[in-house]
Amino acid sequence: MKKVLVLGAGQLARMMDLAGAPLGMDIKAFDVRTNKVVHPIDPEHIYGDLNQGIAECDVITAEFEHVAHSTLKVCEETNKLFPNSDAIKTGGDRRLEKALLDTCNIANAKHVVIENKTDFDSAINLLQLPIIFKSALEGYDGKGQWRLKDPQQADIIWQEMSEFIANASSSTPQGIIAEQMVAFDREVSIIGARSTTGEIAVYPLTENHHTNGILSVSLATPVAEALQAQAFEVFTKLTEKLNYVGVLAIEFFQVGEQLLVNEIAPRVHNSGHWTQQGADTCQFENHLRAICGLPLGSTQLIRPTAMVNIIGEDDIPDEIFSIPSVAMHWYDKEKRDGRKMGHINLCGQSEVELAERLMTLAAVLNKTSFPDLNNFAANYL
Ligand code: ATP
Ligand code: MG
Ligand code: MG
Repeated sequence: MKKVLVLGAGQLARMMDLAGAPLGMDIKAFDVRTNKVVHPIDPEHIYGDLNQGIAECDVITAEFEHVAHSTLKVCEETNKLFPNSDAIKTGGDRRLEKALLDTCNIANAKHVVIENKTDFDSAINLLQLPIIFKSALEGYDGKGQWRLKDPQQADIIWQEMSEFIANASSSTPQGIIAEQMVAFDREVSIIGARSTTGEIAVYPLTENHHTNGILSVSLATPVAEALQAQAFEVFTKLTEKLNYVGVLAIEFFQVGEQLLVNEIAPRVHNSGHWTQQGADTCQFENHLRAICGLPLGSTQLIRPTAMVNIIGEDDIPDEIFSIPSVAMHWYDKEKRDGRKMGHINLCGQSEVELAERLMTLAAVLNKTSFPDLNNFAANYL
């Protein structure tokens, strides 16, 4: 079975390893902070450097889109990298991402690229407030974003943004995208895989809820056919245009019955973690199947499932394990404010049962401060 090198050694590489083991796959992870190839579950176990890792594997993939372009180049030259480096770079640079959406005629929020104060002023005129400004590179979990609602804040925000651009350390010049705020009804995402043979399989749309800009809950329940078809069309257009191989996530704003793309992630995605318990084949296995040229596994929803992120907490009461269907996925990371420490998947035979279990989970987790989940479950019931 195949040897896979993952660029990045976080929880996504770890979960790829956990999904790849039963298939007999050998997964190693390249830690970009230490420049060492390590065991994805036991990072103290060091195998060697990047060149050695590249030479010894059959396939290379990435668990995040902000990989140094020089690293991507070295990997691509071996013809082992999936998805390709252009796809990864596009997911890591909002300027390229927006240009791709526009080229493919895919609906998204009205936006402009900003490089200087003149651009900033004309963006305000063109888009009208409220506007959200996003750094072109390196943004995640809502970091590197500014929201302008009140014209009196414009000068302060420009000052902060221009300092941010000036202090950027990336080799590619940093920039800003100004985007119209969308009054969406809800946020959804589609996770899907495209294999080396061009086979495509997508999961049902997932509903996503954020707390302070970080994904807190994803919900996978049966989806209206027309909406799913719309998302599938976008997925197909984008993956074919990028000649994409692997799992790709697309985040959308739903406005009425229309989907506007927010952003894409060229990798397995937090809003697809529910697939570990809620789908026939999880996203991690399907990613590995796709990049290793295997047929894709069924993406069917088995039962309504929710994924609850554990953010900045490491004191989870044992009581949660008495809730039926609870599946804990712990990442074994040092606790930090706002850091994703793990997630819990929860299923039900019906949506009502799932909502009841979420209420129970919320009550237990509340002891360790989880305000949002309670509100969420109460509204859902
Ligand atoms: P992620 O962790 O998903 O990669 P990110 O830092 O790349 O996050 P976005 O997904 O672009 O950031 O934005 C974070 C959240 O901010 C969105 O999920 C949404 O709730 C809100 N948001 C972003 N853009 C807009 C917009 N144009 N209109 C309204 N809300 C927005
Ligand atoms: Mg993002
Ligand atoms: Mg996002």
